[in-house]
Amino acid sequence: MYRLEQVAVRYGAVEALAPTDLAIGAGDTLMLLGPSGSGKSTLLRCLIGLSPYTGTVSFRGEPVPDWRALRPQLGYVIQNGGLFPHLTARANVALMARELGWEKDRIVARMRELAALVALDADQLERFPRELSGGQRQRVAIMRALMLDPEVLLLDEPLSALDPVTRVRLASDMREIVAKLGKTVVMVTHALGEARFFGGETVLMRDGRIVQRGPIDDLAANPADDFVAEFIAAEEAL
Ligand code: ADP
Ligand code: MG
Repeated sequence: MYRLEQVAVRYGAVEALAPTDLAIGAGDTLMLLGPSGSGKSTLLRCLIGLSPYTGTVSFRGEPVPDWRALRPQLGYVIQNGGLFPHLTARANVALMARELGWEKDRIVARMRELAALVALDADQLERFPRELSGGQRQRVAIMRALMLDPEVLLLDEPLSALDPVTRVRLASDMREIVAKLGKTVVMVTHALGEARFFGGETVLMRDGRIVQRGPIDDLAANPADDFVAEFIAAEEAL
């Protein structure tokens, strides 16, 4: 689905992402794991054209010339949902489809389907983001990301701002949704437990570099270097 060749991001003196090669297959689940500031979000944002990168990002075999044209195929969810505060949940979810000129019936039908998928009811969809709990906001954000039935779901710490009970509940539902939809999923997390929970492969990052890639249990069993071993030990300790 994606191929990155020598993709790098620099902000002034900061090398947020060192030249990186990475391939992500269609239908894969890939977890981007690492400490704060290691470049996870920067790398994820390269996959949606939001990071100012050099190098080549190819999508479906072609270097991407225009990210705007690709946007409907990429669902994106960030930590606090990133919902527009002045729009109801329903209006947030429908926004892109409206802009693309979808018929009202089609919007309503799609919305109903997605509400069932993320377990929200019609009443909750009439509320503004501030009238929803953190978990409900993330469910709305997932609906919004899925509205146009994108091929790819890009998630940047979607669970990090939630209390433990809500986090586990949403994680379970998300895992089910991901399995059901079969989309390509790239998810940023700083928590080893989430990488293990969602399965697939993990890319462990440090200082803007990919240190190791593989199933999380392989990383734990065969750490590439001391950092990997320390990171995993620290995560297991708490
Ligand atoms: P992570 O998501 O792993 O916490 P980020 O990708 O957000 O890390 O950041 C990687 C590095 O790039 C950090 O040093 C961060 O401060 C820097 N950085 C990220 N975005 C910007 C930006 N827009 N301007 C300047 N520096 C940035
Ligand atoms: Mg981040």
